[in-house]
Amino acid sequence: MDTDRDHLKRELLEQIRERLRYYASITTVGLPRRSSASVQQPASSLQEGAETLEVIREDLGECTRCKLHENRRTLVYGVGNPNADLMFVGEGPGYEEDVQGIPFVGPAGQLLTKIIEAIQLTRDEVYIANVVKCRPPSNRDPEPDEIATCRPFLERQVAAIRPRVICTLGRVATQAMLSTEKPLGRMRGQQFSFGDAVLVPTYHPAALLRDPSKKRDTWEDMKLIRALLDERR
Ligand code: URA
Repeated sequence: MDTDRDHLKRELLEQIRERLRYYASITTVGLPRRSSASVQQPASSLQEGAETLEVIREDLGECTRCKLHENRRTLVYGVGNPNADLMFVGEGPGYEEDVQGIPFVGPAGQLLTKIIEAIQLTRDEVYIANVVKCRPPSNRDPEPDEIATCRPFLERQVAAIRPRVICTLGRVATQAMLSTEKPLGRMRGQQFSFGDAVLVPTYHPAALLRDPSKKRDTWEDMKLIRALLDERR
């Protein structure tokens, strides 16, 4: 029989695990910009100037590291300013992205472009990438092993770009970046640390297309991002 005590114990353990996952997420990428050379760096992190986006792309090559390669047409690496202050991270390429090899170019992407412009930026000024670089079949959610396989490359992209603000688009991207299973509703509206960057979760633009009532909250998130960018200029 499950007693209240057992229940409480399990809850506490889960809270501790969540905290550890959170610390793991910020320490693999979370290096001070000018960290001491004597500090041991995790393999997936970056010393200043050590790696460019081109080198990471070359390392990915014609990636076959996870099963997503079997159905993809094009590996969708990322696009935008390699020195962007603001980086968007989505879930994974959809049909259009798979065809064109560029993230967020389908209907959700067109909305994302408008959202970016609403905070006085252009797509060329920000960087856009995804948690997985190959399209999941039938646009299903990427699976944990696929996310884990692709994650070091995303971390290296973040480390190369060194954005001040990372905006995660939707549940999958936010959970993957923060290594948590918390629902998006409990995370959006808040700020998180991701290394030197502030991570701001918001809704995926595809969710806004399905449910326009989410646009109001998204606008609040965008105003927060604009303020963070202005504040740390
Ligand atoms: N949805 C995503 O999460 N990423 C894309 O690149 C396109 C649609």
